[in-house]
Order: sequence, then structure tokens, then C-alpha cells
Amino acid sequence: MKIAAIAAKPVSYRVPEGQNVTLGIGRAVKRDAVLVKVVTDEGLVGWGEAHHGRCPGAIAKLIDTTLSELVLGMDALDVVSVWKRVYKMQLSSHGMGAAAALALSGLDIALWDIRAKAAGMPLYRLLGGGPNPVKAYAGGISLGWQAPEALAEEALAYVARGYRALKLRCGDTPARDVARVEAVRDAVGPDIDILVDANTNYSIDDFRRVAPAFEACTIGWLEEPFPPHDHGLYAEAAAKTSVPLAAGENHYTRFEFTRMIEDGAVRYAQPDLSKTGGVTEGMRIAAMCSAWKLSFNPHTSATGINMAVSIHALASVDMPGYYEADVAKHNPFRDHIGGTADALDEQGCVRPLEAPGHGIAVDEAFVDAHPLIEGPCYV
Ligand SMILES: [Mg+2]
Repeated sequence: MKIAAIAAKPVSYRVPEGQNVTLGIGRAVKRDAVLVKVVTDEGLVGWGEAHHGRCPGAIAKLIDTTLSELVLGMDALDVVSVWKRVYKMQLSSHGMGAAAALALSGLDIALWDIRAKAAGMPLYRLLGGGPNPVKAYAGGISLGWQAPEALAEEALAYVARGYRALKLRCGDTPARDVARVEAVRDAVGPDIDILVDANTNYSIDDFRRVAPAFEACTIGWLEEPFPPHDHGLYAEAAAKTSVPLAAGENHYTRFEFTRMIEDGAVRYAQPDLSKTGGVTEGMRIAAMCSAWKLSFNPHTSATGINMAVSIHALASVDMPGYYEADVAKHNPFRDHIGGTADALDEQGCVRPLEAPGHGIAVDEAFVDAHPLIEGPCYV
């Protein structure tokens, strides 16, 4: 079965006025994704999602031109060879770095959708997993920089919906961040896991100021206090306190996770399957996490495809952590692209979809109705 056609479809929507969550990377004004459609010579169709890289048109162009030319005609089931070819011709030398990893991720996910459809199995079965419950937390573009009382109210609403864990956005001033975390801890009580994400916006002094309060509030993890390449800051922060650190949504391929693991500062690995190299690379990273006893907590991208695939992966790995449920009030990419992945049970868990492939049947009319909107998604 050969790869006969590849088409990238960048999609966008504007966040409705009044629902613009602010976090450490700015105020969300629109959301983007790049869908990747792969068709085989036997007529099987697979869909993947590449992260937009804050310039979805560029990622789509890279897929439609260079990547397509590299892999058209290759064996559609041989994901390792496709991965190797793109790595050699785009990632390892004179290529587009992170953009190539995003593009490859979308292509790889589409090929895994095809593999699972060809096998007549849900993706988790092909990955060696079962219909296992996966713990979910209320995350995504939500619980942003707002007054502590309003934040506590929003947090309580997610607990009422069944979530046993939720993620707050920090990376504001240390005083405001501490006030928010303390208000939410007071509101939800000791049994809800509070995770905190600075979106790379802290200095080491900010970290020193928030760490005692975060420890006292027994947060589950502090995510991306610093940019991912500031390895020294992660080491310094880990040496200063017992606040557990999380990172990985801006780490590309197993090679960057190798450095993370060797440094030993981060305990919660968060590869985004639509960024770090797809399912193929995600499972390699999961194996590394297993060997080094890091919990595997894939970061969630924008659409139901990435969400479904993340749950399949979590149901299939040795050290599963949390599924990040995007609880944004308005996300048509989650709700209407062709099915939803993350129905919550009474234990606050989700389960993988059962249809062959990743289980999201993409509605192309919906895709066509959400064309690319140029410009930044955070301002
Ligand atoms: Mg994050």
C-alpha cells in the first residue's frame, strides 16, 4: 500500500470576544491547526494533525511541497522508513528544524490512522494497549490570569464536572500567581491535584519567590517555568526546591528528550504528539520515560485528532500520566471536526475511541468552513 496523495489543510477560528484567556504566552485571540490528509493507492484515507507553530500557512506549505515530494510513493504502513527519510532530508541537516518536526508529526499521525484502519483496529490496539482508563485534568486554554475569586469559581465548576485534577496558568507576577494558587487550593480542598503552568515566563528569581507557596499548596507539578533550552535554569530550580517540574511540549524528537532525561531536573515529560514527531516518536519517548521512571503526559494540541491520538497513546504506554482535556469554553476543533475523544467518567478518566484508526472521522465540510486566518494566535 503506497502513499498516493498528501494534502495539508490549515484551519483557524477566532476566539469569541470575552473568552480570550490570558496566559504566560499572551492573550489567545484565535486558534489554529494544520490537518494532514493522506490517501493511499488502495483508497484508504488517514488524517493527522500538525501543530501550527504559530504560522500554520508555513507548516502547510512545507507539508504540501517538500515533505510530499520526499515520501510520495513510499510504503504507507512503513512509518519508520517515512520518519527516517524526513529526518534525514529535513531535520538532521539544512532543514527547517522545529517546523519540520511539526510537519512530520502531522504526516506520521495520518499514517498511523491508515495503519490502524488497514488492521481494522482502534489505534490503541495496534500500539499494544487496552481500553484502559486514563486520568484526565482540566487544562487547555482555560483557568488563565484572572482574579483569584473568579479563578476559584471556574476551578470548582470543573470539579463539579468530575475532574480530579486541573491546571492553572501562572507566569504572571509571583504575588498574583501565589494568590491564585492559594485561592484555588482553599476552594477545591486537599484532594484535587493542582497543576501549574508558567508557559516559559519565569526568571529564576520569580521561581524562587513562588516556590515556597507552591510547595505549601502541594502542587502536582510546575510546568515550563523557563524556555526549554535554558537547561541551566531547570537544573538550578530543581536543586532549589522540591516543586516537581514538568516540560516537553516544546521539546522536539527523542533527542531533545534525551537531554531532558540526562539532566534529571524534569520528572513529568510532556511530548506533544503533533509537535515532537508523531506517534512513532512519541512511543519511542514513552519507552525512554519508562526506563527512567518519568511520567508520560502528552501535551494537547488543538483538535479532536490530537486529543484522540493522545488518549490512544496513554492507554498503551508503561508510565501513563495525565490526559490534558482542553476545557476551553469554545473550541469547535474539539467538538465538531468529526467526533469527540474525551468523555469523562465518574472517576475523572477518559478512554480511547473504539473505531478503527484514531476514531475521528473528519468532516471535510467543517474543514473547508474554517480556512486559515493569517496572523498571531496570541497577542
Ligand atoms: Mg504548557
